[in-house]
Amino acid sequence: MDNKFPGKDISEEDLKSKFPLASSINKKKIIKIDQNLFFGDEVSVPVIAGPNGVENKDLIFKCCEILEKNNIKLLRGNIYKPLTFPYRSKKYFDIGDEGIKILESVKKNFDVKIVTEVMEHEKLEMLKDVIDIIQIGARNMQNFPLISKAAEQKKPLLIKRHFGCSIRDLLGAAEYAMIKNNHNVILCERGISVPHTHKASSRFLLDIQAIPAVKDNSCLPIISDPSHASFWHKWVEPLALGSLAAGAEGLMIEFHPDPRNAAVDPLQAINFEEFTLLIKKLKDMAKVLNKKII
Ligand code: PEP
Ligand code: MN
Repeated sequence: MDNKFPGKDISEEDLKSKFPLASSINKKKIIKIDQNLFFGDEVSVPVIAGPNGVENKDLIFKCCEILEKNNIKLLRGNIYKPLTFPYRSKKYFDIGDEGIKILESVKKNFDVKIVTEVMEHEKLEMLKDVIDIIQIGARNMQNFPLISKAAEQKKPLLIKRHFGCSIRDLLGAAEYAMIKNNHNVILCERGISVPHTHKASSRFLLDIQAIPAVKDNSCLPIISDPSHASFWHKWVEPLALGSLAAGAEGLMIEFHPDPRNAAVDPLQAINFEEFTLLIKKLKDMAKVLNKKII
C-alpha cells in the first residue's frame, strides 16, 4: 500500500517490486570498462572529459593529448547533439555520422575509451566498433524503447538523470536496461530544474544530495556532471570537488582549447590549463578520501 501514491519518495516496496534489479537490495555493482578501469569499486573515480561535441579531428586529437597527459582514460566524444533549438549557429557543423571516422582515428592513435550519446537506436549498429560506453542523455532518460535497444548492445550504459525527474524515476529507467540483462549501468546527476538558481543564465542546479540518495537506494554507480549542471565554467571546479567529497563515483567534465569559441555551450567548458589544474586538485582530494582519479 505504501507505494500506491507515487511521488518522489522511494518505499521499501519500490526497492523490491518497482526496480528490484537496480535497487540497493542487491550487492553493489562494479562496472568494468577495461582491465584497469572500473566504476563503482569504492576506490576508482573515472573522469569522462572532452569538448561538448566532436567539432573536428584536430580539436578532438588536441583534447586526447591532454587526457593522456593527465592520465584520464575516457573521452566525451559526442557526435550527435540534442540541441534545445533546431537552429544551428554558424560555427556549429553537425558532424553526425561523419564523426564516426574521427572516433575511429581516436581509437587508433590514443589510449582512451569513448563515451558517445545515442539519440536514435538506428545509430547503434554503426557505432558499435568505436563506442565503449553508450550515453543516454537527460532528454532521453524516459525513452524506454531507446534504452531497451541500447541495452541489447551489451555495452555499458551511462544514463543521465532528466532535469525534471526524481531518483525514483531514474532508477526506473535503469531497470529498463537491466531487465534486458545488461547490468552495466552507470547513472549520472547533471543538474535539475528548480525555480531559483544562483545565476540568471544557469538553467539547472546540481543536486549533490542525489549522490548519497542514489547510493542509499541503488546498487549502481553514480557520477556527477558539474559542467551541464552549472552551465558556467567558473563553477565547474568547486562543484567537481564537492561531488567527489559527496561520494561521486565518477565525473563528467567539459573542456575545450578555446572554450569561449566552442561551437556549443561556450560558457560551460573549462580550458586546458584549468582542466589540468582541476585534475591535480581532484587527485589531491582523492588521496585524503582513499580514492583514485583515473
Ligand atoms: C551532454 O552530455 O552532451 C548533454 C547533452 O547532457 P544532458 O543530456 O545531461 O543535458
Ligand atoms: Mn550540452
